[in-house]
Amino acid sequence: MKNITRGGQFLVKETKAEDIFTPEDLTEEQKMMRDSVKEFVDREVWPNKKRFEEKDYAFTEEIMRKAGEMGLLGIAVPEEYDGLGMGFVTTMLVCDYISGATGSLATAFGAHTGIGTMPILLYGTEEQKKKYVPKLATGEWFGAYCLTEPGAGSDANSGKTKAVLSEDRKHYLISGQKMWISNAGFANLFIVFARIEDDKYITGFIVENDPSNGITFGEEEHKLGIHSSSTRQVFFSDTKVPVENMLSERGNGFKIAMNALNVGRIKLAGACLDAQRRVITEAVKYANDRVQFKTPISQFGVIKSKIAEMATAAYVGESAVYRAAKDIENRIEIRQAEGNSHQEAELKGVEEYAIECSILKVAASEDCQNCTDEGIQILGGMGFSADTPMESAWRDARISRIYEGTNEINRMLSVGMLIKKAMKGHVDLLGPAMAVKDELMGIPDFDTPDYSELFAEEKEIIGKLKKAFLMIAGAGAQKYGPELEEHQQLLMAASDILIEIYMAESAILRTEKNAKRFGKENQKEQIAMAKLNLFHAVEKINSKGKEGIASFTEGDEQRMMLMGLKRFTKYANLPNIVTLRNTIAEKVSAENKYCF
Ligand SMILES: Cc1cc2nc3c(=O)[nH]c(=O)nc-3n(C[C@H](O)[C@H](O)[C@H](O)COP(=O)(O)OP(=O)(O)OC[C@H]3O[C@@H](n4cnc5c(N)ncnc54)[C@H](O)[C@@H]3O)c2cc1C
Repeated sequence: MKNITRGGQFLVKETKAEDIFTPEDLTEEQKMMRDSVKEFVDREVWPNKKRFEEKDYAFTEEIMRKAGEMGLLGIAVPEEYDGLGMGFVTTMLVCDYISGATGSLATAFGAHTGIGTMPILLYGTEEQKKKYVPKLATGEWFGAYCLTEPGAGSDANSGKTKAVLSEDRKHYLISGQKMWISNAGFANLFIVFARIEDDKYITGFIVENDPSNGITFGEEEHKLGIHSSSTRQVFFSDTKVPVENMLSERGNGFKIAMNALNVGRIKLAGACLDAQRRVITEAVKYANDRVQFKTPISQFGVIKSKIAEMATAAYVGESAVYRAAKDIENRIEIRQAEGNSHQEAELKGVEEYAIECSILKVAASEDCQNCTDEGIQILGGMGFSADTPMESAWRDARISRIYEGTNEINRMLSVGMLIKKAMKGHVDLLGPAMAVKDELMGIPDFDTPDYSELFAEEKEIIGKLKKAFLMIAGAGAQKYGPELEEHQQLLMAASDILIEIYMAESAILRTEKNAKRFGKENQKEQIAMAKLNLFHAVEKINSKGKEGIASFTEGDEQRMMLMGLKRFTKYANLPNIVTLRNTIAEKVSAENKYCF
């Protein structure tokens, strides 16, 4: 087994290019799976985009059923429960490519296979799994996840839904109001979180949909986007649930909810990728065709800049998502080899990379949003028209920043979890943070290193960016201790730095690995993308770093940290950004599609 970086360790441990997985490492079997999903979407979904915009909920259900017939709903489900039992990377591929044409299907698929099925797979008893998972894996039944309530959104453990044990102790009676429930309109089964007595933490239950059992629904919500994703309120009124349908133990619901969301987050990041690829392809096709001032607009520098930035963000997102997906898959395999059940191994494998899952969710959802926004801009007035795919893509992209934990919550979580890991001794942040402090007190090295090898300078910069994070987060943690979590704006700045580092490093390592095997010339545009992205990362880290430092330091300490930040965000050879962008855009224009 290759050198595996543990969750969160990317920050303090150097990762080698050969140790990361890239989309270019997909096996033939994985490629076949990817291509069959792509073909399915091209045939069944993309040509019917209009139906998804017209709130044709039944059509979403029909497509979901077809996906079930193809086995796509059971991709991550072990064969013993009628799934295909594929690994985490393949699961990610399916999630990625099935989600590109419309957010409505992406949401229905994600809610069903992720938060609707995973809690049973990860926490269910053998009986529960045997009873429910095969139905969910084949699409005979659909699942939904009922956590959010009118008064309990981000504060998910504050729900008021109650579960009361019946006098004969055979049932719980669940009563309460759940809100924003995806797939509610056609779900056969709900994962419901409710509180027993005055328990500190909520408890999870598997609840079958039965209208005669006190379950009613609100009307379909009128939403900005994902028009054919069913979203309703679900009301439970003394709904009888057999005691054997409790998931895991009493009071374990919050943990279940959070762990289901960890898996959901990385999958959501995957689900933001193909939307970007498709938007880029549509935008570049239009830009090549559209002539203004006697010139195809794709030849204008401004449009080249947009195409290059869009392609770069998608490429970076792919690099990071598949890197993390394979790390998770490897961890699952290691745990299984150590004797853990598949269930336990998967749970712990994903939990280990919870920091990366939050990082990816934030980065990919925001990149997707920017991509669709620029997609509209490239199409000009046509981009604003509902007759082109940009308008719905833009509206659909917006939700990804809100559900599966808002991006603000995920930003705070990423840094919070990292600090917790450090306190538990799982990631040594303190040692490296102290080393950075010592380095700043010492005399800097004025020698110019040899940067002749590909990415020599970029990799050195990545190392320095990590130091910038350690310096700021380390000093912040030292100053505020456990109260750090109350300093949200500092946390947000720190998480932006963390996100930029993971994403930039992933793109550089992917490209380095590919340049080594396919040749630098072959990877010219990818090299340009990795460099362009790093340039933005450095600029952002410089700005967010200043913001963070200024928020809690003054005098000499502040001057020293600002000097450190300057040193850590400095290029010896500033790349020519315009040339990089032109290199990328000209390739995308020549291929008339996203081609990486
Ligand atoms: C289309 C759609 C589908 C959904 N599907 C499901 C589903 O299937 N199942 C389900 O259970 N839920 C679902 N949700 C709910 C979704 O997960 C929540 O909307 C989300 O978690 C945010 O909760 P909220 O809307 O109550 O916002 P709030 O929690 O009220 O947040 C409002 C704002 O305050 C910020 N905020 C909140 N707390 C803090 C804090 N501590 N510090 C700083 N800022 C904070 C948030 O980031 C946000 O910007 C769905 C929502 C939508 C819109």
